[in-house]
Amino acid sequence: ALAEAALEARGLSAGYGRVQVLRDVDLTVRPGEVVALLGPNGAGKTTLLRTLAGYLRPTGGEILLFGASCGRLPVYKRCRQGVSFMGEERHVFPGLTVRQSLRLVRAQGEAAELFPTLTERAGHRGALLSGGEQQMLALTLTLALARKPRLLLIDELSLGLAPLVRERLLDTVRATADTGVGVLVVEQNARSVLERADRAYVMRRGEVVREGPAEEWRGDLDGLASLYLS
Ligand code: ATP
Repeated sequence: ALAEAALEARGLSAGYGRVQVLRDVDLTVRPGEVVALLGPNGAGKTTLLRTLAGYLRPTGGEILLFGASCGRLPVYKRCRQGVSFMGEERHVFPGLTVRQSLRLVRAQGEAAELFPTLTERAGHRGALLSGGEQQMLALTLTLALARKPRLLLIDELSLGLAPLVRERLLDTVRATADTGVGVLVVEQNARSVLERADRAYVMRRGEVVREGPAEEWRGDLDGLASLYLS
């Protein structure tokens, strides 16, 4: 039997005021899976993640977390259930050094293991780190702050970062999923994310237009690109 889904969205709709963005979205993430969420700018990927995390109220459909409908549960209650959201803003503590930030969330050991670069930058303040270093720190803080993460929602993992940093972040995402966490990740570089993902969804204009195993997409990156354009 299939493991119970970490996340299941059924017929989900949501938007901003009278502007409907998401239409009838069905999506599943199982424990231990990396699921890539792909699609052109404005497709509704961020809106979907915000709705799943509880920042936006759905206007229709339902969301199940670990088998139970989460209805109107606020963000903090979803966090308690193990849902962790990493937005595209790269939240680090701008005035704290890397060392202070990691101490605050008791993640010194983890950080050193995940991203040795952070140890080298121990004395630097968050605001003065490079974009890639900030994202490494943000991912470490996100993982540490969720007491027991079971579902990780990540927006724009590597936007604007160097390829090597992107690969490192994606490896960490894969390793996190391998511990049993379900991961839904928005990443602009389809090729890189598909190398580590189990499945992918492609969105356009607020709808899921295709879904399938990552290996299928890896062999058809041109077909994938055409979905972005047509
Ligand atoms: P991108 O890759 O460019 O971030 P996306 O797939 O994440 O795109 P969204 O950011 O979810 O897409 O945007 C989907 C649609 O919702 C767009 O048409 C956008 O203009 C609209 N939208 C996003 N945020 C708001 C908001 N706060 N108020 C009104 N409309 C919004």
